[in-house]
Amino acid sequence: MDKQHPLSDLVIVYHRQPYEEHVENGQVVYREHASPNGIVPTLKSFFGSVEHGAWVAWKQVEGRSTDRKGKGDGKEPFERVVNITDSYGSYSVSRLALTAQQVRSFYHVTSKEALWPILHSFPERYNYDAVDWPTFREVNRLFAEAAVAQAAPGAVIWIHDYNLWLTPRYVRELRPDVKIAFFHHTPFPSSSIFSILPWRDEILGSLLDCDLVGFHIPRYAAGFAAAARNLKGTAILKEAKAPASLSHHGLALSQASYPVQLGHEGRVVHVDACPVGTNVSHIRSLIDSDLTRERETRILAELKKGEPDERKLIVSVGRTDYTKGTRDMLLAYERLLQRQPALVGRVQLLVTSVAAAAGMGVYRNVQREIEQIAGRINARHSTLAYRPLWLSTTAIPFEELVAYYRCADVCWITPLRDGLNLVAKEYVAARARDGAALGAQGDAGNLGGVLVLSEFTGAAVELDGALLANPYSHHQMDVAIDRALEMPAPEQQERMARMLRSVERYDTVQWARHTLEAFKALQASPEDEAPQPVSEIPA
Ligand code: UDP
Repeated sequence: MDKQHPLSDLVIVYHRQPYEEHVENGQVVYREHASPNGIVPTLKSFFGSVEHGAWVAWKQVEGRSTDRKGKGDGKEPFERVVNITDSYGSYSVSRLALTAQQVRSFYHVTSKEALWPILHSFPERYNYDAVDWPTFREVNRLFAEAAVAQAAPGAVIWIHDYNLWLTPRYVRELRPDVKIAFFHHTPFPSSSIFSILPWRDEILGSLLDCDLVGFHIPRYAAGFAAAARNLKGTAILKEAKAPASLSHHGLALSQASYPVQLGHEGRVVHVDACPVGTNVSHIRSLIDSDLTRERETRILAELKKGEPDERKLIVSVGRTDYTKGTRDMLLAYERLLQRQPALVGRVQLLVTSVAAAAGMGVYRNVQREIEQIAGRINARHSTLAYRPLWLSTTAIPFEELVAYYRCADVCWITPLRDGLNLVAKEYVAARARDGAALGAQGDAGNLGGVLVLSEFTGAAVELDGALLANPYSHHQMDVAIDRALEMPAPEQQERMARMLRSVERYDTVQWARHTLEAFKALQASPEDEAPQPVSEIPA
């Protein structure tokens, strides 16, 4: 390691690069993302707490492959490690040069066609045939090798998401001195669904090589612990009650308690549940900006707000994915306009269904179906002056989205399954009356508005105040949207105030604080004492 790349106490391993890469006048320049919204800026904020951070990502480079030693075939000049200094701190970024073929196999096929459906409990979508497991292993090993090359003695290597499930195992083999943390951004299924994966033993073995395995909510943590217990015989060392903010009873994803320590090969594996927050202070600054106000004025004029024929705005924001339930939500909107003809001309639905990367057939079909239903709704109910559905298949910039959230009477988020759903939290944060107030001023401190939220999102166990719906039930979907459109303003504001308090308290800053404390505890703990099972959890 040369002096230009000091070793790091915190190495973040995430498949995407932490900046935007542009070529200007023949030179490669790295720029911060235009918006501080999203998971990448949230993760980068951790670099503020270390002297020098490191990030490992992939970069697709045509006609080139990376061998085990991280060396390419030398055909193209390629700077594997770059040093970045930006408003988040100073950090190195190691890029693995993967060929299009490696990316396709490891990410588009194995991760998205085999692992993703299982994580989201869609076994009927699971496609085993095209999986090339040796390539998945190899890419995961390359990530591990790049990560350990950046890690100072005793560093924390923090690995993200299921496409890097095998990386902990290789890190453990290479560097027994480091602490390994892993965070899942997805759900974790029941052990019977997880067992569909033929590589289940290898995946669990790798996750149990971590010191800390993190999830959004207790249900997913319990799912992982149950899989480890049932399939590997892992001992449950300690159970804890779910935190008060996540322990609402009676919901599809409620989980009163969950294992927080597992014993594996003489070590303790800590299990954590803490949902990622949204960047409340950024949303607050957008609420107060003149540009957002101008955008709001334009949107409200389009909705004819204040005029006798004003329209209610419903927004539904997401990616194109069968897990997001966009098709079922659109069918519910179609039923709504048929059941209540008086609403035609009085409601406006904005749907964003941001298309996935090209080349994934399964998403192409989902997109086609969404476009067909949207076309049918518009064809049936449009007039020259009115189109009941606006569908955007490209991403709306976050700053603009906030203006739509501000104008939306209803946010309709009904995935069939979703690890968390940040859009739900963003809608809530954007409903503060002004940037300074948020939840602090009681019920009057917000604009009201109704969040219709699927019970099968991680956010549902956090957002007490949402109108919950089961997207598998036509009846429940119909009742929920009817109630949302009819809900009196005082009830809207009372519910919104409850949700605002939660979103404001558990924001990105709080999530970072919680996570850094967990890392500190790992680094401070003496070599783990001989684990003793303290409770027997029924399988
Ligand atoms: N988003 C956006 N523009 C769009 C659609 C989505 O900026 O047109 C952002 C949205 O604000 C949110 C993220 O994309 O921050 C989606 O995160 P979420 O957790 O809801 O879903 P995911 O795509 O991670 O499953």
